[in-house]
Order: sequence, then C-alpha cells, then structure tokens
Amino acid sequence: MDSNAILVVEDENDIREMLAFSLERAGFTVIPSETAEQALALLEGPLPGLVIIDWMLPGMSGVELARKLRRDPLTSDLPLLMLTARGEEADKLKSFDAGIDDYVTKPFSPRELIARIRALRRRSGDSEDGTITFMGLTLDTKGHRLSAGEEVIHVGPTEFRLLELMMRNPSRAFNRTQLLDRVWGRNVYVEERTVDVYVLRLRRALAPFGMDRMVETVRGVGYRFSPHAGGAPSSSGSETR
Ligand code: CA
Repeated sequence: MDSNAILVVEDENDIREMLAFSLERAGFTVIPSETAEQALALLEGPLPGLVIIDWMLPGMSGVELARKLRRDPLTSDLPLLMLTARGEEADKLKSFDAGIDDYVTKPFSPRELIARIRALRRRSGDSEDGTITFMGLTLDTKGHRLSAGEEVIHVGPTEFRLLELMMRNPSRAFNRTQLLDRVWGRNVYVEERTVDVYVLRLRRALAPFGMDRMVETVRGVGYRFSPHAGGAPSSSGSETR
C-alpha cells in the first residue's frame, strides 16, 4: 500500500488533469484512471490510501465500482470519495448506500476537495502532519521516515509499507496472504515465506530500540502490530520472552 497515493477515476480529461495537478501540489501521489475497469486492474497492485470516483463513467458506473470495492475484503476499508453532478440529491443518497464516505458536487474548488480528503484521512487514523505514533515509534507517511524518539530507524521501502499497514490497524492480525495482497499487490507472484523474510528484517531494524516485539507473531494466523508489546531493548531480536 501507498497511503499517500490517491486513485482518481474520472473519464473527463480536463477534470482528471486538474485533480492530478491540485492533489500533487498538496503532496499526494496521483494514480489516474479513465474507467472503473481500469481502476479495478490498478487496484490489483499495491493499494492507494484513498479513491476518488466520478459518478458518471463509461462502462461500469462509479456507484457500481464503489459497491464492488466495498464487497471485496481487500478494498472494503478504502476511503471512497464520489464526484457527483450538481443537485441530484437522490443520487447522492444512493452513493452513500453504496458505501461512499463522502461526496463533492461538481463544479468544486480544489481547496474544498483537499479539505474533504484530509478530513477523510484523519477519520482513518492520519494525524494532520501524516504521522502515526505508538509508544515512541513514529511513522511519517509523507516523508517516508521511521523514528524511535529522535533517532531515525533505517528500513527499506517494503518493510516501511508493511509496518505502515500494521500500524494503521493496530492489534489486528493479518495472515500472510492479506499482507501480500496489500503490500506487494495481488498481481505480483510472491511466495508466502517472503512475508516472513521482511518481518524478520523489520524486527532487526526495530530491535536496538526494544521495539521488535511490537511486531508480534500470531500463531496459526500471521502477524500483528501490538504497540504495548515494546519495552526494554532485547538482545536477541527474536520473539522469545
Ligand atoms: Ca464523467
């Protein structure tokens, strides 16, 4: 997943380009898509942090796309923002029924849209500055930096995304398939044991700070982030206690 990425599904070139320009200037990465079908294919890769869907699309409609995303366990938690035409209240209500988190009526100001996006992201756990902190461990989703107090922890991009997914869902256990689908993408063939390799690397990076135990093994399931499992630095970096 890349929480800073926004998938924009809009068939009108002018609006899509205007959205890309405004969102990128606000610090987001934009993944443009002209149709719902193309968006679904893109969602087989690493997940974005939010999806903007235009109501009127050729082929599958925006509402159908939203319903589909809500039904799929991989995308059911993704914040969805719908763009609608002016004054269609009934349609708006239908979009909430489809699992939309918010909507913006065209024509809209980029500033309003970005304010709504920031509000949605805060609801899904982001602080104003894009950082997530638990027990002294801070993950900066904008600057792609991980730190323990004042000290920077060096991790690779995959370990970072893995930790980000887990820190966004503290205490939730993920199995290896769920981690692979979200972090690596469904369209990439990677063996399940790859997850273990990256968890090991992540724990090694966290061990000098006594934070390796925050990445817990859940027997018979997989892994979870347990903020309160950290403590005094452990010498081994393993999961023995
Ligand atoms: Ca359209």
